Amino acid sequence: MSQKTLFHDEILGGKAEPAFVCARCGMCQASCPTYQETAAETMCARGRVQLLRGIIEGEIELTPNLRDKIYSCLGCNACTVNCPSGVDVEALIMEARHAMRGAGIDLPTLGEALRGNLCGDGNPFGEERGERGAWLPPHLRKPREAETCIHAGCSISYANSKIGRMVLRILDKAGVDYTLMGDDEECCGDPLMRLGERELADELRGRNKARFVRYGVRRIVTPCAGCVKSFRTYYGEFESRHIVEWLADLIRERKILPVKPVQKRVIYFDGCDMGRHAGIYDPPREILKAIPGLQLLEFDKTREQGQCCGGPLMSNDPTLAGRIAEHRSREAADKGADAIATACPTCLINLRGGAKAAETKLDVQDVVSLLYRSVL
Ligand code: SF4
Ligand code: SF4
Repeated sequence: MSQKTLFHDEILGGKAEPAFVCARCGMCQASCPTYQETAAETMCARGRVQLLRGIIEGEIELTPNLRDKIYSCLGCNACTVNCPSGVDVEALIMEARHAMRGAGIDLPTLGEALRGNLCGDGNPFGEERGERGAWLPPHLRKPREAETCIHAGCSISYANSKIGRMVLRILDKAGVDYTLMGDDEECCGDPLMRLGERELADELRGRNKARFVRYGVRRIVTPCAGCVKSFRTYYGEFESRHIVEWLADLIRERKILPVKPVQKRVIYFDGCDMGRHAGIYDPPREILKAIPGLQLLEFDKTREQGQCCGGPLMSNDPTLAGRIAEHRSREAADKGADAIATACPTCLINLRGGAKAAETKLDVQDVVSLLYRSVL
């Protein structure tokens, strides 16, 4: 299959149209984190769109180097909200990745390893599938019938289980009912979608949905920003919420009482999955404001304009991911913060690395951890 035929057949049917709508105005440059770090035209939205256009028109050959430019996009959507022509760059990039996979074009090396882990172990880290619920007490490692399921997500299950345990202790104190899939839980499918592996993600989501139905689950609540984005986009038959939305409700209902002071100047980091993708801006701020002694600060660019930490590139280009996180950490330190709060486990890991690399003393914490200190 020629390259031109590949892209015409796979994505030109309407889905590639945005590549031809782009007016090349460059308004997206200032908001693109990968461009900010590299100053390379092929690393910003305009450059990536023009690359795709050239490939679609058969004028540019799709080399491994250019493929990597398409995979270096964070999918953060900052360009899309700033594009006067309404080009949905992220959607276009995801279509291109799907088309490339459909045509048998190899993933970047680290992407291939990620795919192997997701398909083999049901998580991106290559950790044992059967040990997913090892962080839970024995009675929660197997699901039972309940309306609400706490979907821990891969990062909480394998890398940040302390946050998961804090979530459960706060919910138990509030006296609410829930189940977990425990050892049977699998990835939500978001990392496979980012790789362009749409069919594999569909299969995985099918298994997740069948489990939710089997146990009478109607509402999925997760402490992971990537998961809530995925659930809201692809699991429409279930209500889906991020844990901070539920916790903010429980504080309002006075079922959770933050009473112990947390004397910190905390800057809230929106994150792209929580913000632009899932539209969750106020609940984490409400929680932080409810904590006595905590002073809430804001970045210059917040909410819809919030800048990505680089986290989505951790599995593909860890060096660039680290540089972006370092940049964000310096911005936080310049604002006078002594802590960064996030509601995304990926941002948490990447920003912790960035804060260290930037030689700041910033304490990077999940919103849940700060609430826990005030409640228990
Ligand atoms: S802002 Fe939109 S129209 Fe302008 S160069 Fe970027 S993608 Fe193209
Ligand atoms: S989605 Fe983010 S990383 Fe990708 S081109 Fe747009 S601003 Fe840049």
